[in-house]
Amino acid sequence: MDLNYSAEDIAFRDQVRAYLDANLPKDLQQKVLNHKRLSKEDFVRWHKIVAKQGWVGTGWPVEYGGTGWNAVQRHIWEEECARAGTPPILPFGVNMVAPVIMAFGNEAQKKYYLPRILNCDDWWCQGYSEPGAGSDLASLKTRAERQGDHYIVNGQKTWTTLGQHADMIFCLVRTDTGARKQEGISFLLIDMKTPGITVRPIIMLDEDHEVNEVFFDNVKVPVENLIGEENKGWTYAKYLLGHERTNIAAVGRAKRELQFLKRIATEHLKNGKPMLEDPVFAGKVATLEIEIMALEVTVLKVISEDSKRRGPGPEASMLKVKGTEVQQMLTELMVEAVGPYSLPFDRHYLEGQEAHSVFGDDDAAPLASYYFNFRKTSIYGGSNEIQKNIITQMILGL
Ligand SMILES: Cc1cc2nc3c(=O)[nH]c(=O)nc-3n(C[C@H](O)[C@H](O)[C@H](O)COP(=O)(O)OP(=O)(O)OC[C@H]3O[C@@H](n4cnc5c(N)ncnc54)[C@H](O)[C@@H]3O)c2cc1C
Repeated sequence: MDLNYSAEDIAFRDQVRAYLDANLPKDLQQKVLNHKRLSKEDFVRWHKIVAKQGWVGTGWPVEYGGTGWNAVQRHIWEEECARAGTPPILPFGVNMVAPVIMAFGNEAQKKYYLPRILNCDDWWCQGYSEPGAGSDLASLKTRAERQGDHYIVNGQKTWTTLGQHADMIFCLVRTDTGARKQEGISFLLIDMKTPGITVRPIIMLDEDHEVNEVFFDNVKVPVENLIGEENKGWTYAKYLLGHERTNIAAVGRAKRELQFLKRIATEHLKNGKPMLEDPVFAGKVATLEIEIMALEVTVLKVISEDSKRRGPGPEASMLKVKGTEVQQMLTELMVEAVGPYSLPFDRHYLEGQEAHSVFGDDDAAPLASYYFNFRKTSIYGGSNEIQKNIITQMILGL
């Protein structure tokens, strides 16, 4: 296994860097680097810029409009985007439902949805979780009953990220109540404008609107929106979850944020000296830096294996756990570095209505909100406790 970049990889990296220098709008970059909130328009704008270059489907085969990049090239792209401070390309369409459509959808579904996903013509959201079905997802109760050429859907989804903007939701629904719970599930694509769908916001601690409850009341969904076979949705759902988890490690962003942390810890003082000179704090930063380096090597090892064997395996769970632990350590130390300066909540600055924080410290103003937001990372995408169960069973064989 060779963890060093080849000459071709370095040439590719330089090409990506030059592209980002020339095409990433400065206002978007400043929002990302300053931890401000991104609007729907921000996400769509960046997605469409990258789509013009043909670089959205980084994990997609060329026949569907993907880049056909290998695992190392995909990693370089992610790293460089994180380094430059691009908004993320949201995963729901490109990395979650698209692989399922490619693997299990019919020709008409591929032809219709895949180009629209590449071009961000539809904003997708994920309808898996329900109030009684999170970790134990197979116990989901949302019902879809076939009536002629339609399904009638009734039930509730929850924690639907950015569902308030969505045009489409991919949903797990129960089509057979008599079967073993994993066997009676189907995978449906549902137009969010269909009558009977209600989206109710779940407002977070920092007053942000990121997640939602989605209610289905006699929602009529055409049978052609079923993916694959009826009652086989659990197989497709698990396939999708592997893709979801690989992208959560976010080492590139962690490396960029580590530099930010070191800078603010140099500028903020404790007892007249930079925070970074406080031995206890410096020890925590050093531990974090080592964790990030170890995570990066692990990611490169997984990528190196992935280039020989297709698809993410249980090591995706390892990356998810470690990646999110690192993200949480980072946000904790950022708040610690600025101390009381993180206390004021400046919504207008966070949302970009003011160029500077009225509290006088632009670096510190978003950090408490950032810290609280990142508590979610050990829960979403399958909680870390569940990932540890997978690691013990599938990697350690316990
Ligand atoms: C911010 C956020 C965004 C999300 N976005 C989406 C989305 O867009 N679409 C979507 O479908 N879902 C989404 N989710 C849902 C997410 O996938 C679930 O929250 C997650 O799977 C955990 O389920 P739960 O919340 O029902 O917790 P529960 O399953 O009730 O678990 C509660 C606690 O018990 C632990 N636990 C449960 N079972 C076990 C076990 N067998 N062994 C050990 N520990 C266990 C869990 O780890 C957790 O700590 C989101 C969640 C959050 C917080």
